[in-house]
Amino acid sequence: MLAAGGHLDVEELTAAARERLGTLTSQAVYEMLRHFLETGLVTKFERPGWPAVFELTGLPHQHAMCVNCGRVQNVPHVAPVPPTNDLRDWQVNDADIVFKGLCPNCRAS
Ligand SMILES: [Zn+2]
Ligand SMILES: [Zn+2]
Repeated sequence: MLAAGGHLDVEELTAAARERLGTLTSQAVYEMLRHFLETGLVTKFERPGWPAVFELTGLPHQHAMCVNCGRVQNVPHVAPVPPTNDLRDWQVNDADIVFKGLCPNCRAS
């Protein structure tokens, strides 16, 4: 389901996988996702106010998120370089940008 692209939450994944597999509990999906996260196959994106979404790990990218409906879209943008003067003695491993606003659907309505 994730290989088709996009960002799906557990409920969406469970519903879509159930159509193909028949019976499937969301607990089973949670456990599979936990395993995929541990092995790095899948990446999780936290959405404040909505359930987290999951995607297949691909090239590094940033995200845009609609504050009205929670829609998430990839943004092929390089992560910012940390300001070394302000973070003296830190070891920074990662940085994320989330562009927040209204998606085209929400803008239109
Ligand atoms: Zn929206
Ligand atoms: Zn993404």
